[in-house]
This record gives sequence, C-alpha cells and structure tokens, in this order.
Amino acid sequence: MDVLTPDQRRRCMTRIKARNTKPEVVLRKQLFALGFRYRLHDRALPGTPDIVFPKFHAAVFVHGCFWHGHECALFTVPATNTEFWMAKIGVNRARDAGAVRALRDLGWRVLTVWECTLRGREKLPLNILALRIARWLRGRRGLASVP
Ligand SMILES: [Zn+2]
Repeated sequence: MDVLTPDQRRRCMTRIKARNTKPEVVLRKQLFALGFRYRLHDRALPGTPDIVFPKFHAAVFVHGCFWHGHECALFTVPATNTEFWMAKIGVNRARDAGAVRALRDLGWRVLTVWECTLRGREKLPLNILALRIARWLRGRRGLASVP
C-alpha cells in the first residue's frame, strides 16, 4: 500500500532525477583514474548526454530503468495511473531514440549505461563496468548498451 495519494506519488516521482547518483559518480571517478577526461550533462548536444568524451567523440547516457522503459528487474509497470506512466515512458523512449539519431548524424558514438548495471541484483562491479566503457571508447563500435 502506497502511503502517498496517486497525485502525491506523481509529483514525487516527477522530481526524481537519476543524475549524479552515487554509483554514477564512482563510475566517473574510475574512468578519470583510467585517464579519460569528460564533460558532464552537455546541453550543447542533443539529449544532454550525461558523460561526454570530446576526444573520443563519444557520448554516454546513464538511464534510469523506470523512466526510460528498460525491460529488466528494476522495471515494473505501475499498478496505479498505468496509462499515464506508460504514455510518459513512451515519450521518454521516443525522445531517447531521437537524441541518439541526432548525435549519430553529428558523428558521435553513443553508449547507454542502464541503471540496473549500477544497482540492483544485476549490477556489475564498477571497475569492470569502467573497463568495458574504456574498451568501448578506444574501440570502433558506434552504438552500444550496457548491459
Ligand atoms: Zn534496467
């Protein structure tokens, strides 16, 4: 049973931002320690990527699994206001796809790191994740997703 009314829940959840969560900050520090330099939340680029590596022309999104509709253990279809949430998530997914297309058209490589990689029972150790991202940055693959 939810202690908040559906309307309070909506306002509460709308305010939640997945940015600068602790695992994301630790991940960035590991990438920095590996020698990678980056900008954060670059508003000049389509979709405001969370981590941008200018030297590699590579952009990383760290997506919350609920907001961006990742089919994984962290995503559950809300029992109340189901249509409202599913429509909202659908809009987010369409926006994500548009941002990826626009970035690729501008010659950027795009990687999506899903929240379930950073927390929950499917998470990866952050040093392993940092090494995977490092490999992707140095490699040639254009579009990728972790997991
Ligand atoms: Zn997920």
